Order: sequence, then structure tokens, then C-alpha cells
Amino acid sequence: MAQLWVSFASDTEDNQPSYVPGWQSIGSNYDANPSILSWSWCKYWPDLSECFKSKDVPVSWLIRTDDGPVRDHMLSLFRDEILELRSNGDEIGIHIHTFAWNRELSRWTQTTNPKNQTRIVLRSLDMFKEKLGFAPSCTRMGWNTMSNEIMKTLEANGILADSSAIPGTCSLGKFGKRDNIYDWSRAPNRPYHPSHEDYQKPGNMNILEIPISTHETSKPTLLTSLTNKLSATRGSSLLLELVPLARMFNINPNYGFYVSPWWSLTPAIRTIKAYQTKALQDGIAYLVGFFHGHDILNPKTGEKNLIFEKYLSRIIKEILSLHGIEITFATLSEIAKKYERDENSIHF
Ligand SMILES: [Zn+2]
Repeated sequence: MAQLWVSFASDTEDNQPSYVPGWQSIGSNYDANPSILSWSWCKYWPDLSECFKSKDVPVSWLIRTDDGPVRDHMLSLFRDEILELRSNGDEIGIHIHTFAWNRELSRWTQTTNPKNQTRIVLRSLDMFKEKLGFAPSCTRMGWNTMSNEIMKTLEANGILADSSAIPGTCSLGKFGKRDNIYDWSRAPNRPYHPSHEDYQKPGNMNILEIPISTHETSKPTLLTSLTNKLSATRGSSLLLELVPLARMFNINPNYGFYVSPWWSLTPAIRTIKAYQTKALQDGIAYLVGFFHGHDILNPKTGEKNLIFEKYLSRIIKEILSLHGIEITFATLSEIAKKYERDENSIHF
């Protein structure tokens, strides 16, 4: 029987920065050094976890660590909760943002300097090990960012799987270009071992890139480029006004399997269906979706975002209702191990 392996990854960090539209009053302040972090979404973390636990679906929680503005705050503040999730079958990986303090602008901005990137990744991995007592096996980089240097540093430090890729996408920066600089425009939409010379090309590195699932017909739309343009200007309230419109017309500027309370589920559901077809054609397919833990908080009311719970349950139900294939929910590391087993059995 054809197999579909499914994994959910959560970028698990503080509230959104206050420079993101909608989060002005309740977000973390990244215009200060040290930053002023807000963790108010975390009171609903158990409820979020329950959406998955109640259906026996493991989650790969990727815990935010960096060399500023967050450093090891999350690891320290939530150490017990994180270890508890791990002992209950979830995976704990790392989510690293490559922020650096910009003296000129007096704010935290993304660095694209390879030396800084390497330093931040190494520092973050150290903090993770120091606070939790084990090394992470999987990663998703902040804003999906990647470089050859980051990929090599992750591999050299024993990371089995990275899921930063969203094949077919790239961004030159958002919010006054202070973050969201990444390029996955050439990456394949299936797991691959990257090349040492080009992280977007298959090669013979040991680390496995397991991209976030996308499918052919969900190419970035006019709305995607409009959203990117709007969010490139700082504090755009227009972007927020687009949300109800997007919901009304059932459209989504995101691409592939991303679950968010702010956009329609259509691309995610289309991706799920496409991966069912892929599994039936190839015998096996790996479906990987991601979300942000802090989306369980409604930034306008400070209350729980009930729609998000509803969306997550709907997505899991949608996957469970697929017929004619065997479905296995797994962590990112389990998917990587399964992939390697199959690769090896093909070669021998
Ligand atoms: Zn992040």
C-alpha cells in the first residue's frame, strides 16, 4: 500500500515583533537592546499542543534560540514544559533567527554576512545544549533563511534534518527590509541531501533538507507579490485590511502547506490532496506542514484564537480522511530516518 508520511513543524518563539502589522500593542519590542520580549501567547501553548495530542499526532517544536534579541530566554523560561513535551513523544528542535543589532538604525535586523550567520548558529546550538542537556536533531531557520555557510554549520553539528525550504519562493526582505531575506527559488520539492556548493541543489551532504510541502498549481499569485510589496513598507495597515478580503475570497498569499489563522486553508488542502496523488504514484510521499505557535493568540484581543484550533483540527481530519494510502504521523527526525532507510535499501 502507498505510504504518506506526515510531519508538523512549529516555529516556537515569542509573540511576533511589534513591527509586524497587527502586533503593535502586544508584540515583542525589537527596537531596543536588550529587546523587550512578550510571551503572552504561551498561556495557550497547552491548548495548542492538545489539538495534536488528542489525535495522536506528534509535533516537532522548534524552539527559538539566537544571539540576540531572544538568546536562551525561551529555553530557560519554558525548560520544564519543553522537556515534558519531549517525554510525551514530541520532538524538540531548534529555530534560529540570524538577527544582529544594527547600531545605525538602533534596531535588530537580519544579517546576511556569512561570518555572522555561522557565529549565531554556533552560539545558538551551544545555548540549546547547555540549557536542555541534549543536542537538537532538526531545524527550521527564522524567515526560512539559508546559506551554504548555515547549511554546513548545521551539518557539522549533527543536525539530521532541516525544513527551512519552501521550494519556489524567495524574498528580498520585508518590513523595511529588516528581515525575511531568503531564496529557495531553485530547490526541489522533495527531500534531498544538499550540495556543498549550493544548498538549493541535490548533492552529497549528510544533512537532509526536507522542504515544506508545496505543489505545482499553488504558484505564488498576484496577491503574494502584492502582500510582499505591502509588507516591505514598515507598519503597513493596508496589509491587515487585506486579511478579511482574502478570507472572503478564499485566497492565500502563502504558498504550500502553511497553517495560519489569518489566511484561507485552500493551499494547504490542495497540497494535501496533491501529496495523496504523489504517494499513489511513487509509493511514498513526505508531507510537511508548518505553523507558528504564537498564532494561537489573537493579537487584537489578547485572547485565544479559536479559529486556529479549528483550522488545525480541520487539517488533521482532512489528512485522516484520505483513502487508499497508509498514513504515518511522524516527527521531522523520524521522517529523515525513514528516508535514509529507504534510500539505503534502494542502493543495496
Ligand atoms: Zn521565527
